[in-house]
Amino acid sequence: MSKIDYLISALTLQEKIGMIHGDGLFQTKGVERLGIPPLKMADGPMGVRNEFQNDTWVSIGLTDDYVSYLPSNTAIASTWNRACAYGMGQVLGAEARGRGKDIILAPGINIKRSPLCGRNFEYMSEDPYLISEMAVPFIKGVQENDVAACVKHFAVNNQETERLWVETVIDDQALREIYLPGFYSAVTRGNAYSIMGAYNLLRGEHCCQSKWLLKDVLREEWGYDGVVVSDWGGVHDTQAAAISGLDIEMSVTNNFDDYYMANPLKEAVEKGEIDEALIDEKIRHILNLMDRLHMLEGERKTGQYNVHTHRQAILEAAEESIVLLKNTETRLPLDKNNFKKILVIGDNGERIHSNGGGSAEIKALYEISPLMGLKSQLGGNVEVVFARGYEALVDTEESETNWQETSLEAQQVATIKQVDEARLAREKELREEAVKLAQEIDEVILVCGLNHDYDTEGKDREDMKLPYKQDELIKAVLEVNPNTIIVIQSGSPVEMHQWVHQAKAVVWMGYIGMEGGNALANVLLGKVNPSGRLAETFPKVLEDSPAHCIGEFPGDKQVDYKEGIYVGYRYYDTYDVEPEFCFGHGLSYTTFEYNNLRIQPIENNTMKVTVELTNTGLVEGLEVAQLYIGSKQKDERIPFQTLKGYEKVHLKPQETKEVQFLLDQDSFAYYDTVEGKMKVQDGQYEIRIGQSSRAILLKAQVSTSTL
Ligand code: BGC
Repeated sequence: MSKIDYLISALTLQEKIGMIHGDGLFQTKGVERLGIPPLKMADGPMGVRNEFQNDTWVSIGLTDDYVSYLPSNTAIASTWNRACAYGMGQVLGAEARGRGKDIILAPGINIKRSPLCGRNFEYMSEDPYLISEMAVPFIKGVQENDVAACVKHFAVNNQETERLWVETVIDDQALREIYLPGFYSAVTRGNAYSIMGAYNLLRGEHCCQSKWLLKDVLREEWGYDGVVVSDWGGVHDTQAAAISGLDIEMSVTNNFDDYYMANPLKEAVEKGEIDEALIDEKIRHILNLMDRLHMLEGERKTGQYNVHTHRQAILEAAEESIVLLKNTETRLPLDKNNFKKILVIGDNGERIHSNGGGSAEIKALYEISPLMGLKSQLGGNVEVVFARGYEALVDTEESETNWQETSLEAQQVATIKQVDEARLAREKELREEAVKLAQEIDEVILVCGLNHDYDTEGKDREDMKLPYKQDELIKAVLEVNPNTIIVIQSGSPVEMHQWVHQAKAVVWMGYIGMEGGNALANVLLGKVNPSGRLAETFPKVLEDSPAHCIGEFPGDKQVDYKEGIYVGYRYYDTYDVEPEFCFGHGLSYTTFEYNNLRIQPIENNTMKVTVELTNTGLVEGLEVAQLYIGSKQKDERIPFQTLKGYEKVHLKPQETKEVQFLLDQDSFAYYDTVEGKMKVQDGQYEIRIGQSSRAILLKAQVSTSTL
């Protein structure tokens, strides 16, 4: 008898029940007499969250839970570098282990369907291929530390409005081609030891207790034998939860014994209403996970948090995540020998972001703001002047309770303060001060965007505009100083059309972690050549975005994904809607040339695509060569093009390297709703290679018959 079989046979029903629901806000019960420890979990994507008391949302308030603050998933994805994703996974895993955790509730891999989703900053991309390619190494990195990744939120959890009750209405093709592949890759290729169900409903059932999703698709179709954890408070029914593939019920309240999978489930089993074999399946998954983490026997790895190597890796990932959106007249990089004074404008210039965002908040040991990064890199010889420019007025009143404690009760109310006379006057004053200084000082960097009052769990944004009248500020500053460099920090697209044509240099960055200010300064001052690429389209206006112009967002009790598979660039490129900045876009301080595209069939129904890349500029740099498969067929089930390969390549000036992509049947497949499976439509396709979805440099025709 295997150890796991033995344990299952030795456990009492009471003990089993203890293992399958929260016995604390972030842990389950262990069984000491059999050497089964409790499972300890922690959020989340940007670092390991602070310690809470076991049964209240009150921070223990120790000084030993300060951790490294990692770039959020949006930023990790914008590196387009699998090694960076792996590196960040390793850091997160080691820190979670160092903090004594078994499961880290990350990464978040939901599709960024609308620019307005409050949790977009926690998610990676609008494209399932890019998500898969980044999530898989991330998960591997985490799990190499004997910590389980918990991929979330399964599935189609793409908005915060009514997140506990909204029903997602979606067609099968969109579900299979857009919303599920990231999760499929995470569990099949990434081998994620755990996965978190979503709050919303799908096909009439809450995802956390959906037999169709968790048992039929995840377990039976995909062969998953890992642990399924509910989102906190995502279970609503004992019977449904028991028969679905869910293994552990977690919630935000401390009536642990009353959870659906606690006493009510025990009673149902005792009454013969639910088969105990269903509980045993859950226990087997949990013991499997413990075994994989060496929690039951053998030697388990030790972890570390907040060590120098982590900070270094975080700095490098942050640098690679920054996207140079626009750079006319070679406005950037700045040469620090050319100026004696520089003006930094904008609340985001000195704001700390690590302590916000909802469950992704963390206690960072430190966070370098852009202002601090610039000051430190300029080394004292340049005077750095700061003007706030706009006021990010948020409700800072201390609340008696943590928001999460009441998160199941009501929709969160907006925390942004009411506009009043005094505020209007203050806004004007700040703007005028900034504009006056921008007139006097030659070098100006305006750091603006969103913050975690907008990029946050629990609520969506109302529009895509920059808040706090930042458009007015930017326009006024550009008016008096056209050389001003605009830095936008956000986890989602924001409108820029009011001023982007006027700006010479525009830089975008996500919430990029504890070394953020240093990373930004290194890019602006040319120490690092920017190489980030947008992992999502930035539309000009919200109305251009498919979820808003075809589908619904945020819906009411239901939200209808009428745009189907036409999410992100699949929509913009097929329907020829010009975005502000397209998917995959990002500039460099050097230039690259693409030559010699060749395609040859190789073994196993695979095509090998090669292309030569040359750095034709004066500085070394990283280029992201992107491969899209374009359809030549007029078939509304097949978009104009889809990303099917990319490689990030380092090139010294004048250096040439060959880049290789492999394409197989899967690369050409679409989901046939009639047959209910992925299929290849025979015919002609175009292989497009370029620097973004809209900067295609080389093309070649192929036929699927060569596969
Ligand atoms: C979030 C999850 C998070 C959990 C625990 C929920 O509100 O949706 O992503 O892991 O809380 O904090």
